[in-house]
Amino acid sequence: MISRDTIDKVFETSRVEEVIGDFVNLKKAGANYKGLSPFTDEKTPSFMVSPVKQIWKDFSTGKGGNAITFLMEHEHYSYPEAIRYLARKYNIEIEETQQTDEQKQVANERESMYLVSEFAKNHFHENLYHSEKGKAIGYTYFKARGFTDETIKKFALGYAVDEWSIFTDVAIQKKYDLEFLEKTGLTIVKRNEETRLVERQFDRFKGRVIFPIQSMSGRVLGFGGRTLLTDKKIAKYVNSPESIIYHKSKILYGIYQAKQSIAKQNNCYLVEGYTDVISMVQSGIENVVASSGTALTSDQIRLINRLTPNITVLFDGDAAGIRASIRGIDLILEQGMNVKVITFPDGEDPDSFAKGKTEDELKNYLEYNAKDFIQFKTSLLLEEAQNDPVKKADLIRDIVASISKIPNNIQKEIYIQECASIMGISENVLFNELSQILKKEQRQASKKQTTSRTPFTGVKKQVEKPKKFDQLFNLEKKIIEILLLYGNIEVEFVDFVSEIDDNGKKIIKKENYTNAVSNEIYVHLHEDEIEFTNPIFLKIYYEIIHLLNQEQEIVPEIFTNHENTEISVAVTSILMDEEQYALSDWERHDIIVKSKESNLSKLVMDVLYNLRRLLIAQKITALKSNMSPDNNEIENQKEIVLESMEEIRDYTNLKQLLFEKLNRVL
Ligand code: ATP
Ligand code: MN
Repeated sequence: MISRDTIDKVFETSRVEEVIGDFVNLKKAGANYKGLSPFTDEKTPSFMVSPVKQIWKDFSTGKGGNAITFLMEHEHYSYPEAIRYLARKYNIEIEETQQTDEQKQVANERESMYLVSEFAKNHFHENLYHSEKGKAIGYTYFKARGFTDETIKKFALGYAVDEWSIFTDVAIQKKYDLEFLEKTGLTIVKRNEETRLVERQFDRFKGRVIFPIQSMSGRVLGFGGRTLLTDKKIAKYVNSPESIIYHKSKILYGIYQAKQSIAKQNNCYLVEGYTDVISMVQSGIENVVASSGTALTSDQIRLINRLTPNITVLFDGDAAGIRASIRGIDLILEQGMNVKVITFPDGEDPDSFAKGKTEDELKNYLEYNAKDFIQFKTSLLLEEAQNDPVKKADLIRDIVASISKIPNNIQKEIYIQECASIMGISENVLFNELSQILKKEQRQASKKQTTSRTPFTGVKKQVEKPKKFDQLFNLEKKIIEILLLYGNIEVEFVDFVSEIDDNGKKIIKKENYTNAVSNEIYVHLHEDEIEFTNPIFLKIYYEIIHLLNQEQEIVPEIFTNHENTEISVAVTSILMDEEQYALSDWERHDIIVKSKESNLSKLVMDVLYNLRRLLIAQKITALKSNMSPDNNEIENQKEIVLESMEEIRDYTNLKQLLFEKLNRVL
């Protein structure tokens, strides 16, 4: 692990405008910098960097954060990768925290395996250009497949010379350890059963052309090797074995070369193998990756989901293969991604199809043949079921099972309607099937006590109205903003308390007192047992209170640089929005506010009173609906109504009182 000290040093030293300046052309605009969004193809700049606050915001996509989050978004680095990048940029020495011997060993082992893999990649690649056999066999093969030098270099393709241990020998001569050659699977080691002494060692990939497999950040994880023989008894492709650096189920071939394009095109083409990826990239389609021979896994989908919510799956042109692949696609739907599919003419795969086509021809084909997955599946199965009612019933279950995986309810409903119309049956049949599947799932889920899926209640009534201006969200956001910007400031507050005077008369007395803004807010919320409903605001609030309790200053940087990216993104967004819109937006939305920042105490009170008013109003509404006649448990009905009425009266009084207070403050 990178030490806290190093991380702090990286944060202190990095300048967000310098870091982003390496990727985006920034122009000074007032106190800030502006540029074209690197995440879209926009023509007018909406990308803003604040050197004062050390944050950025892309108003065209809503993304934002600090220097680290920029690198994570733009370069798709993980958090430690981003720290390491910045440390390198600013010449900061990376200090690793004390690790246990075991941790050290694993880290060293992994590092050594990466190193030997990197060496192997370079060795195999150089063979193509510098060794006689590499040139004559490997290079000739790739050329015959139609790969250009540019392509060969881009994917660092290579060749392992067909001799028992020529690669292993060179590696050992260069001081790479046999242990790691064996652990990465580059070398196969035969040991004596009893003595465990090495009897023989040879190169796993000998005589094969090599496809290095890289991680999202470009590290070499493993290899695929294709034989050049046509002997049916020899496996056409051999891959690295599973190891602590090579997990087949978490790898997508081509992701390193494709990541920028996937994010920019906002779509990822998914193909079957190495040659499909390479041929498509060479033909000008760069946003393409392969699952490499295995059935698609959730981890692989998650990798794509970091870059785009849209996947287009390319099927080879044989019907049996398509049917086999279809099942895996429910996994993609489950992650809420949009799936399209494209098929190719019989006997063709993306590799063979791309060959001899111009970039435009290929692009046109992909564009015109992309079909929505659910529609595609419906039509395909319908063709098979024809007029067989039993098969048709299976088909309905099958399709609806796919639809049930989609997390978004509106989308579910739209698909039900479309499928009903494709199949020529009533929507109700499908809705019934859907609610049965969902009920069954819910029963199973509650048995397992998991909370991953939100419960689904009825399908027909589910069309959610888009939320109008969400007052609660905005009030909570405003409180966080005040805490971040003015939390430490001591202000004079005014309160009105009612007292009975000496003559027994009720009087209202004005009281002045000073308090830190953060403290005042805390006391109010705590007294009324008000909790933030937004989970991220709640987290930020707790951290602020924590700082408060330790008498530490509240500095926005603590949050814009927070290691929890949800928090840093939320805070950045709050601070940047404030920069753009100041307070003007605030007044338009049915919220009583007359004060400006100039009078902080009023601002604080406004927000707190408004929040209370809103919560009380919600409470009253809830109580009223509790009393409504369709809630008919006749036994308890009367009691509930009476209780509720009393509560409503109390709350209405409270609301009135608050209103008076609020008006006085204003
Ligand atoms: P050919 O030149 O005969 O078309 P190919 O190298 O294109 O051979 P295909 O059999 O067409 O290979 O398969 C296409 C893709 O599927 C390959 O790029 C490879 O990634 C993958 N693949 C094929 N067979 C295997 C296998 N046995 N193990 C792993 N991946 C394979
Ligand atoms: Mn092929």
